[in-house]
Formats: sequence, structure tokens, C-alpha cells
Amino acid sequence: MNGRIIIYGRTNSAAGYEVRDFLTRNCSDYDWVELNTDDEAQRLAGVSGLADPRLPLCVLSQSSKLYCPSLRELAMALEWFKGPKYECYDLAIFGAGPAGLSAALYGASEGLRTIVVEKTAVGGQAGSTSKIENYMGFPDGISGWELASRARRQAIRMGAEIIVGLEGVAGERQDGWQLSWFASGERIASKATICATGVEYTRLGLEREGDFLNRGLYYGAGSSEAEICKGRVVIVGGGNSAGQAALNFARQTKVTMLVRGESLKNTLSTYLLERIEDTSSITVLTRTTLTALEGDDVLERVTYRNETSGESASIETHSVFVCIGGRPRLEWAKPGVLHCDPAGYILTGPDLDRSSLSAEMWQDGRAPLFMESSIPGLFAAGDVRHNSTKRCAAAAGDGATAVSMAHQYLLSVKYQLCGTARSALR
Ligand SMILES: Cc1cc2nc3c(=O)[nH]c(=O)nc-3n(C[C@H](O)[C@H](O)[C@H](O)COP(=O)(O)OP(=O)(O)OC[C@H]3O[C@@H](n4cnc5c(N)ncnc54)[C@H](O)[C@@H]3O)c2cc1C
Repeated sequence: MNGRIIIYGRTNSAAGYEVRDFLTRNCSDYDWVELNTDDEAQRLAGVSGLADPRLPLCVLSQSSKLYCPSLRELAMALEWFKGPKYECYDLAIFGAGPAGLSAALYGASEGLRTIVVEKTAVGGQAGSTSKIENYMGFPDGISGWELASRARRQAIRMGAEIIVGLEGVAGERQDGWQLSWFASGERIASKATICATGVEYTRLGLEREGDFLNRGLYYGAGSSEAEICKGRVVIVGGGNSAGQAALNFARQTKVTMLVRGESLKNTLSTYLLERIEDTSSITVLTRTTLTALEGDDVLERVTYRNETSGESASIETHSVFVCIGGRPRLEWAKPGVLHCDPAGYILTGPDLDRSSLSAEMWQDGRAPLFMESSIPGLFAAGDVRHNSTKRCAAAAGDGATAVSMAHQYLLSVKYQLCGTARSALR
């Protein structure tokens, strides 16, 4: 695809936001044309009016227009989506955040036939942040999408296959092979697998969340939105991701941070705290909980409660960004087979209780390697791993270490696996 993509959509359209977020996180340039009247919709997008369900319209080129596409349709039209090249791989990696991309780079460069399967966008959580300032080697900081795009290019140059728009939905171990099923119905076999699926944002659990989701209420730092948000922006959360989001929006507009804790000191890195304190357009409300989302068609205001005084108040806003951390998503794993801690993070190596491991799977009597899960040959790297440090550099380090563990594992099972992949896939 040559040239910029143009997206025509109405203000506060959830579908419009999803397309913008998807393109931003996949490092693709686009122009967003906001349609405010029926006349604009007819003139600019050639649809009947603002209520036309064909919006948003994505113009990829003069001859390629997509009306209200799904993300998968968009990825296919952009030729990003391709099925796996092979049935069998040495190493399959799920998730293309810093952990998965680093594992891809090391796996491929060390001669393993490596595939990375990513359901949404290369870069993971890191790809959604406007600036990462604590990643070694970038003294002036680097945007998440740029870091992700560089890592992606590097991994592909080393020979890794990266597939975006495909979700791993089930896994099973058979004859020593790891079998993985995708939402598309396809499946692959791999000798070793790295789960680098990170975490998903924790939901607020408020009553009208569904009404405003991606139409005023957003999860994550909203790096695609900073230029187009109008009016006061509310950020929920007091960690580094919330702090970065606040600073990013404060360049354009006024920001209120709703923070549950007593102060930002315990949750925010000093460099971010100092900058927030120096930014007059950011107001920080501590000991504060968001309690209600209000509005008719669009989000108009939010109500919050001060936990010290018990008093409630409201803020007029059309844009709330929630950065309150997350929890691992492991629906693909068979319950009980993959051992996790009470919060759902994958236990690996020395953190596993050896006496509870499946005797059938661990017949060779060896102990799980560091980063190896309760399933032989399945490794966990990055935020999804129990007790991991929730940082980009730590996740990238995890990815590299998991590959070295995978090599050790492959050496130990080399003879058992020969020739069995096809029968396992049958
Ligand atoms: C807004 C924000 C700002 C941040 N800023 C910083 C910072 O400045 N410095 C810093 O060090 N850290 C920062 N962090 C934390 C850092 O981004 C994370 O620690 C890091 O991204 C974790 O990497 P990961 O690869 O383990 O997981 P993730 O980055 O979460 O990536 C996991 C990937 O797996 C994919 N996935 C999930 N399930 C499946 C599936 N079933 N099939 C296929 N793919 C799947 C997801 O779509 C995602 O892309 C920030 C986080 C956020 C949210």
C-alpha cells in the first residue's frame, strides 16, 4: 500500500476509534477526517448521512475503499494478514509485545524456525505508549510504536515470521509437540512455545461502561487520541502508564488524574512525578475513585468520590482513559494443566511445586527449567509470568532468556520429536 490512509468517521464513533487505535499501534500513518454534519458525510464520504452504518470509511487508495471494516478486514486489505507459512515450527511465540519480539529476534537469529502470532498489534502495551524514557540506549526516550516497529523489522530481518490479526485460542501437548489453535480455525505444531501474551486492562466495572466504551471511555494510554481530544481529559490511575498518558494529553488540553492512593509518590517514577508536578494543566486528585459515567448519546461527565471525606463531585468530560493495570488472559490454557498463581500469572521453574506436576508429562524426571511452565516445552516470558518486573526492558530480557531455555529443552527432547508432528496434527 502506498500513500496515507484516510478515515472518514463521526465524532465519538467506537468503530472510528478502533480503526485509529489499530493503525497507530501498527505504525501506520493515516488522516482522520471528522464528520460533524449529514452534509459533510455526503460530500466527503459519499454516504447518506452521519447515521449511515457504512461509516467509518477507510480510503486505502483511489481504488480501495472499506466501509466500516473489521480490524481483520482492514489488516487483510493492507496485506498484513497472512496465514502461517508452515505447519511445524521449532518455536512458536504468542504475543508480539517486548517479550515476544525479543524472543522472536533471538529465536530466529539462533537458527530456530520461529513464528510470532499477535492478535492485535505489534508492540503490545509498550506499543500503545507515547514515550518510553527508561529503555536503555534511548537517552531522549522513544515512542512505543517506534521501538516496536524497529524490533519488528529486526526480528523479520533475522528470519522470524510475524503474523498480526491472529489469536491463539487453545493449546495442547501431543506426542511431545505443542499444538496451537487459532481463532481463524488454523493450527500449527511447534517443538517449543513461548507464551508472551502480557496482561489485559482491568475493567472499571461501572454501570454504563458498555455504553461509552471506545466512545469516550478508553482503556490504555490513548496514543492515537492526543491530537484530537477536545476539552478536559480524565485519566484514571496513578502508575507510570497513567502518568505518561497525562503528560501526553497535557500538551494539548487540561487533564485531571483520579488516583486511588494517598499520593503518586509510591506508584510513579520520580522523573514522571517531577514533570507532572511542574505541569500546570494537570490536576491530581488523590484518594479518589471514579463512581459513575454519565451522558445521553456520548459521555458528558463523570462522578468521583473522595475516599477521605466521602464527598462526591462531577467533572465535565468527553474523554476518560483508564490505566489501572491488568490481569493475564489465559483462556486458551486448559484449566489445571497450566499452573498459575492466585492472580492468574503463569508459574515457572523454581516457583512450581514439583510434587503437583503431571507425572505423565514429566516422565523424564527432570525439573522444569527456569521460565518453563508446568507443561514441558511451554515457556512464559514478560508480564504474564509470575513475579516478572512489569517493564519493557525486563520483558525483552525475559524473551531472550526464554529462548535460551527453549534451546536447552530442544536438546533434551531432540530424538523424541522426530517425525511425529504430522501425526500429532492429524
Ligand atoms: C500505557 C503504558 C505505558 C508504559 N510505559 C512504560 C515505560 O515507559 N517503561 C517501561 O519499562 N514499561 C512501561 N510500560 C509497561 C510495559 O509496556 C510492559 O511491561 C511490557 O509491554 C510487557 O511486555 P510483554 O511483551 O510481556 O506484554 P505486552 O506488551 O502486554 O504484549 C502482549 C501481547 O500479546 C498479545 N496477545 C495476548 N493474548 C494473545 C493471544 N491469545 N494470541 C496472540 N496474541 C495475544 C497482545 O495483543 C499483546 O500485543 C507501560 C505500559 C503501559 C500500558
